[in-house]
Amino acid sequence: MKYLDEFSDPDLARILIDKIHDTTDRRWSMMEVCGGQTHSIIRHGIDQLLPETIEMIHGPGCPVCVTPLELIDKALAIAAQPGVIFCSFGDMLRVPGSRKDLFHIKSEGGDIRVVYSPLDALNLARQNPDKQVVFFGIGFETTAPANAMTVYQAERLGVENFSLLVSHVLVPPAIAAIMDSPQCRVQAFLLAGHVCSVMGTEEYPPLVEKYKVPMVVTGFEPLDILEGIRRTVDQLENGRAELDNAYPRAVRAEGNLPAKKMLNDVFEVTDRKWRGIGMIPKSGWKLSEKYRKFDAEHRFSVQDLHANESPICRSGEVLQGLIKPHECAAFGKECTPRNPLGATMVSSEGACAAYYLYRRLTVLPEVAHV
Ligand code: SF4
Repeated sequence: MKYLDEFSDPDLARILIDKIHDTTDRRWSMMEVCGGQTHSIIRHGIDQLLPETIEMIHGPGCPVCVTPLELIDKALAIAAQPGVIFCSFGDMLRVPGSRKDLFHIKSEGGDIRVVYSPLDALNLARQNPDKQVVFFGIGFETTAPANAMTVYQAERLGVENFSLLVSHVLVPPAIAAIMDSPQCRVQAFLLAGHVCSVMGTEEYPPLVEKYKVPMVVTGFEPLDILEGIRRTVDQLENGRAELDNAYPRAVRAEGNLPAKKMLNDVFEVTDRKWRGIGMIPKSGWKLSEKYRKFDAEHRFSVQDLHANESPICRSGEVLQGLIKPHECAAFGKECTPRNPLGATMVSSEGACAAYYLYRRLTVLPEVAHV
């Protein structure tokens, strides 16, 4: 398949792997920020093909995983209310809140709908004027434009019974938080190609300058990732720290200007709590004053819920790259995709799910008999 097969060519992959081995003299650790890249790395065994001295650290790039527990609990509280149609992408339904998940709410009679676009939720609102329709708008800079466009359309069409439960987070402040952590081991970043395709690359030179680490914009197919790693190793071995774009077929420095204009109109920057990490200043978006009436948190007054994390889940350390998923004692035992204790085991982009799915453990009790 064009654009997939050509970026999975094994002969070209071998050439890139050989170049990485030839270039690498020292020990390096680099972080891929995006959960999609984490899955690609684990699925294709890319980390196992690299020199042993290169460690891939999996960053907090899974949007479902970093959505704070308090917000999941707010979603559950809103979804349980009579007269509400609560819409979400499918991967949020199994994410555990303090006591339940959206599937539980659905089994108890809540009207939970899986949609494939926020515009589907807006259509539901127009078809059900006697209901309140809420869309759970989570994600990084990649998913935000569609949500912004939906709110803009709701305003334009005068749809009063639609609202957005917003949990948008931003990559550059998260990188700064990771680098500022005293436990940080990251020496370079593979930047998320899809985030940069929206936002461009202009936010990153100040981070490169401040932290003196290479940052390479990287795609998602095996050759994309290997090329990103090759360029990163080349910088590290030669003592350089620069911003580089290894994904030029999708990313321009200025990004997607119409999308950015829409984002600036509908959202404004705010402090956001990241699940497993904590509060990061100016690391997210909320609806701007102009569109505040579409904010589900205001509409439903569910501001102060107390949330309880699983005491044995170490997803915070996983999200910060401090441990690998299989170093958590619950991995593959108490915690599996069927019975997840943390969001990193639920999401299709979560590191724990990737390690479980691709069997990065010698013993996996739940699947050992298969
Ligand atoms: S394996 Fe499960 S319990 Fe352990 S860190 Fe991952 S999500 Fe949390």
